[in-house]
Amino acid sequence: MKPLLINGIWKETASGIPNINPSDTTDTIDVYSQAGVNETNQAILAAATAFSEWSHTSPQVRHDILSRVAREIFSRKEEIGELLSREEGKILSEGIAETTRAAQIFSFFAGEALRISGEKLASIRPGVEVDITREPVGVVGIITPWNFPIAIPAWKIAPALCYGNTVVMKPAELVPGCSWVIAEALQRAGVPAGVFNLVYGPGSIVGQAMLDNPSVDAITFTGSQATGKRVAESCVKHMRKMQLEMGGKNPLVVLDDADLDVAVDCAINGAFYSTGQRCTASSRLIVTEGIHDRFVEACVEHMNGLNVGHALHKDTQIGPVVDEVQLDQDMRYIDIAHKEGGNLRSGGDVISAATSGFFLRPTLITDTTPMMTINREEVFGPVASVIRARNYEEALDVSNDHEFGLSAGICTQSLKYASHFKRNSQAGMIMVNLPTAGVDYHVPFGGTKKSSYGSREQGSYAIEFFTQVKTSYTAP
Ligand code: ADP
Repeated sequence: MKPLLINGIWKETASGIPNINPSDTTDTIDVYSQAGVNETNQAILAAATAFSEWSHTSPQVRHDILSRVAREIFSRKEEIGELLSREEGKILSEGIAETTRAAQIFSFFAGEALRISGEKLASIRPGVEVDITREPVGVVGIITPWNFPIAIPAWKIAPALCYGNTVVMKPAELVPGCSWVIAEALQRAGVPAGVFNLVYGPGSIVGQAMLDNPSVDAITFTGSQATGKRVAESCVKHMRKMQLEMGGKNPLVVLDDADLDVAVDCAINGAFYSTGQRCTASSRLIVTEGIHDRFVEACVEHMNGLNVGHALHKDTQIGPVVDEVQLDQDMRYIDIAHKEGGNLRSGGDVISAATSGFFLRPTLITDTTPMMTINREEVFGPVASVIRARNYEEALDVSNDHEFGLSAGICTQSLKYASHFKRNSQAGMIMVNLPTAGVDYHVPFGGTKKSSYGSREQGSYAIEFFTQVKTSYTAP
């Protein structure tokens, strides 16, 4: 059984939960110790105790630890990528790519540790100098979802440690393995006891214990809107910093003048790769009249050729849905879309394969209207819907008419429309002739409206959340 990590000590608990492969439910990856409220509070106490010393370490120390983690993850990317695909279900090449990205994130923040800067200004009072410096926030609680089991933990853990914070990390129940790999790499890299703590368990117990503990100074969360609200309430109650990422209902606008092949590639990749289980997935395909029928035909043809199956099989392009609960949710939304008048144009059926997994054929629902449930709620599966629009203006209005605003894409060969869309789309990330999913690690990530709350994640913008600003005045 894999233990928790509390105050630098690996700790097995009485209860453990098996980590099951969604491509093959007879494959148990490992059993992971479960924390309760006590263990969670011990981890928070350890992080609070370790903060004073860690926050004053030389940036070189933090750089070296993060670099070692980056190197270890990169050198083991095939093995870790396979573990990732086994526990989450994305295909092996995606698992390895995500692992590589996690290594790059650690490497990026290793460098950032050496670049923490401040400002010096003359005061408005003669002779007085003003320094503006950045300091770590304290104990950071990290709560992550299952869909990017190594990249999301990496892009929260690496900046937290880089800027001198200590961490209590709780990954999603379905993907304990990748966080364990990071914890092990951090231990080997020499992270001091208590600086990084890992606890497993249900959100309602372990996550909630983090929310309830006043010694947690900041929480960074990625997950559902409902849980995000709970996190926010707890952060207001305890007057602490928060950073929330809560999903999307991302539009991909396809205009008459789009290159059809590019548009279809963007739609297929954005909607169905990683089994559509990305918060940046294209779920609303908003297509103008003149290209609509050709676009739908070409998508269906492409979808018919997609290979759905075991994530580790070399020909597989689309892996399984993460578990039975998610599969039921996907099927329920497909059913609702059908009942509300959508036309099930492709997919929608569960596939039986050689192994017992949760295989859903990528699903395209056409003839939908903007207010149908399928266009309002996040499905989080390989399901996309098509909305017909009269022209660019209507497509833009429909794309913006949503409470979410994470990522938005447009396929067009017109500079005029591309530029207008970049300025007027109400999303945090805009993609022109690219899938809505798939972002760089060195630039900000985050959305508008109900997708995100707080400052941006990733790249040099991460400093906003993981530090606080101090202004010092010195008289001569
Ligand atoms: P998803 O639909 O992606 O599973 P959730 O919001 O349920 O989204 O889960 C995201 C993360 O939030 C997971 O790590 C989960 O365990 C955690 N979580 C769920 N409920 C709570 C809660 N009440 N308090 C804190 N964390 C929670």
